[in-house]
Formats: sequence, C-alpha cells, structure tokens
Amino acid sequence: MPRTEAGEAVESTHAQSKWVRILERLHAEVGDVEYRNWLRQMTLAGVDGDEVTVHIPTRFLRDWVSDRYGARLNALWQSEDPSIRRVELRVGGVVEPTQTIDPPVPEDVAAPTVPASVAAPDDRTDPKSDIAAALDSRFTFEGFVVGKPNEFAYACARRVAEQPSAQGFNPLFLYGGVGLGKTHLMHAIAWELTKRNETPGLAPIAFAYMSAEKFMYRFIAAIRSHSTMEFKEQLRNVDVLMIDDLQFLIGKDNTQEEFFHTFNYLVEAGKQIVVSSDKSPSDLTVEERLKTRLGCGMVADLHTTTYELRLSILETKAARAGGCVPVKVLEYLAHKITSNVRELEGALNRLVAHSNLFGRPVTLETTYEVLHDLLKAHDRRVTIDEIQKRVAEHYGIRVSDMSSARRARQVARPRQVAMYLAKQLTSRSLPEIGKKFGNRDHTTVMHAVSRVTELTERDGTFAEDVELLRRLLES
Ligand code: ADP
Ligand code: MG
Repeated sequence: MPRTEAGEAVESTHAQSKWVRILERLHAEVGDVEYRNWLRQMTLAGVDGDEVTVHIPTRFLRDWVSDRYGARLNALWQSEDPSIRRVELRVGGVVEPTQTIDPPVPEDVAAPTVPASVAAPDDRTDPKSDIAAALDSRFTFEGFVVGKPNEFAYACARRVAEQPSAQGFNPLFLYGGVGLGKTHLMHAIAWELTKRNETPGLAPIAFAYMSAEKFMYRFIAAIRSHSTMEFKEQLRNVDVLMIDDLQFLIGKDNTQEEFFHTFNYLVEAGKQIVVSSDKSPSDLTVEERLKTRLGCGMVADLHTTTYELRLSILETKAARAGGCVPVKVLEYLAHKITSNVRELEGALNRLVAHSNLFGRPVTLETTYEVLHDLLKAHDRRVTIDEIQKRVAEHYGIRVSDMSSARRARQVARPRQVAMYLAKQLTSRSLPEIGKKFGNRDHTTVMHAVSRVTELTERDGTFAEDVELLRRLLES
C-alpha cells in the first residue's frame, strides 16, 4: 500500500487496520449495492499528522463519494482516531479493469442507485446541463397528441418509461422524419423517470439523455483531457441511456466504436437503451454489427402526420394558448403545413403572438398575411445545389469552387457559409453535406458550422450577409 513520506511503517499498519474497520462500518451502513458501486475502490494512501489521504480511481468517483460520503468518512475516522482533522479524497490508486473497462462479471452489474440528476456528473461541464436541464418542460407524455401515425411509438415509449429493460423493448429505436416527435418522446420518458425518482420508496432509476452530436463532442473532449475512463464510467452507471439523433454518430474516429462498446455493455447488463434517428437502423451509416444490434429490440416508426393528427395537435396547442384561434384557421394550417409538427407549431405560435401584439383577433386574412413567407417557403424545399449556387453568386466565386480543393480565404469562407446554410436549411446529415462539397469529411462541415456561428456573433456585417442569403434561399 502506498503511503506518504511522513508515514511510518508501524503507524501505517495501525492506520490500515483502522481503515478496514471504517470500510466495514460504511459497508454495513450503506448496503451491498452502494458499497460495491461507489466505495469498494477506495484505498488508504497514508496518514500525515492529522490528515488522512484516501485514493479513489477516477474523478467522477471522487466527487460522488466526496459529496455523499465525505462527512461520514470524516466522522468515522474521528471515532477511530480523534486526532484526525481531515480526510482527503484524491484521484489515484489502481483501477480494476472489471470495474471500468471490460464487461463486468454478473455480480458487478447491479444498478447503481443514483438519482437521475446526478446520473452523469462531469468535472468540466455542468452535469445537469447534460441531463435534467436539457429536458424541455413541454415534452411530456401528457403533452403528446396521439394519433394513428404515432400511437405505436407512443405506446413503446410509455412502456419503456414504466418498465425499463422490459423484454422485447430493448433497445427501443424511435425512427421518423424531422419534427415528428422523437425528441418529445425521449424527453417524456426522462420526465416520467424523474417523477418516479421523486416518489419515496421506489428505487431510483438513473438515466442519461444526450444527442449523438453531444456524445461525440464529449467523447472527443474526454480523449483530449485524458478522461475517457470517467466518461465511460458515467455512461455505464446509468440504467437508461438515451441518445437522440443517432444518424449524427458517424465518422471513422473511435466515437462509434465507443458507443458500440457502451451500448453492448449496457444491454448485456440489462440496462435500457433508447435511441432516435431519422433513418432506419439498416439505413444508418454505421458499422454492420451496430446496425444489427440496434435493430434487434423494438423499432418504432413515427409516420408522417395525417390531416387528422395535425388538426388535433393544433387544437390541443391552440386550446393551451388561450383558444383564440378559429377552427377555420386551424383547418387551413393543417391542410397547408404538412411537413412536420415543428413547423405547424411554429406557425400557430406566430399567429398567436401577432394577435396578442396587435390586439387583433386571428382570422383567415391575418393568417395569410402573417404567415405569407412561411407558407410560400413551404411550397418548395431548398437543395444543397441551390445553396451553393446562391452563395457562390453572392460572393462572386465559381460554383465549382464549392467542391474544389482550393483553400484561399476568398473561396474557403463562402464555402463554409454554404455548408452552414446547408446544415440550417436542409435536413441533410453532416456526411451528406460533406459529400456535396467535394467529398469533404463531416468534421470539416462541423468546423464550418461552428466557425460561421462564431463569426455571425462577432461580425455584424458578416451576420447580415448570412441572414440575407438565408432569406433569399427561403423565399
Ligand atoms: P423530432 O425530434 O422528431 O425532430 P420533436 O420531438 O423535436 O421532433 O418535435 C418537434 C415539435 O413538435 C416539438 O415542439 C414537439 O413538442 C412537437 N410535437 C411533435 N409531435 C407531437 C405530438 N404528437 N403532440 C404534440 N406535440 C408534438
Ligand atoms: Mg429531435
């Protein structure tokens, strides 16, 4: 056992036996599962004067243990040795591979009883921003309007929320076009679990929700800061892992590999996986083995909306907004805006906001007026080719330069703008966009998007340019 330089051998043996007693008491107090998941990996590093140092293998474990058991550890030490003033938890010691990297032996897979809000804490980012705060408060089961096109997906989501890891529902793969309610259903599952976790007497279910893009960014960030272990550990400590927009999990890098491992680990440990995607499992650009696994649970389609569903969604939302929208208008919108629920909702919100602002009732006439541009844009879909052409024209470069290898600023910047607009205005994925720009990698597109976003925030003229292009393309 390592010890501090000041520690003497005799004292150290003495200290070690105190430590063993403390661990035994902790074990008895917290129970087997808690002990195994959180406390077992602590080792005594040494005693220096009135200070004890305890090692624990990862930062995540350290924070968790320190938050929940720090005070108790102090008290137990003091009862063993009243001269102890401080117990320091430090990251260190050996990580036992069975506990973090490889699939564990069966007795290790008991669900950690972690409350949802701390299911995936992180040293560098706010833990809640990854889970709880990311949840939209309107996206509940109660707020979801059920109709023929989505009733099956809805029922599956309900089922998973009530009984995670139920036979036949794992993984749950929610599949459907943009704006049809995939994210809504995932958040609804999370809210249901949150509610359950607040019910006294029920064992809490730890969950994590994040987009595939966030998953990638976080994994890459973890590699950079040499903390992949903590990241994996966070994910593997949940009972329900939800990854939204899986179609964005792509690339040759090892994020896909990592997702696959985490995925297998969790499924084998009897944990629930929920993923959403705008592509079916077989159409995803992921490895064959991942496709197979993704498709082997429940695949639930969210079909394109019907007129009836659109109308009933509008009625529900209009009623919530105060019920000042005539049925005629709702019917008109349900006929006219067929692409997805998000646009439908956006249109309704605009009408209501306009009516409140000007104190005028909503009528068919005001609807035509207020939604003029939206309805017009709705008649046509922007393509990447059009975007490239428009942007090239605007900046006076050749369209062929959109896909050329030239890196000069005067072509590179417009190219980035075009990539950005392609991401904003079409539903193409990053690799698809990259392909259209001379077979560039998806990371290039990702970079372009963040670069342009950054520039629009800093440079007013540039922002106006981009906004102008967007309007041109949408009109
Ligand atoms: P997706 O993730 O499939 O792209 P979202 O879940 O973000 O779509 O849904 C887009 C918007 O439409 C959200 O505001 C959501 O609340 C709303 N929405 C979608 N389907 C329904 C529904 N059946 N009932 C109520 N709102 C819905
Ligand atoms: Mg979504």
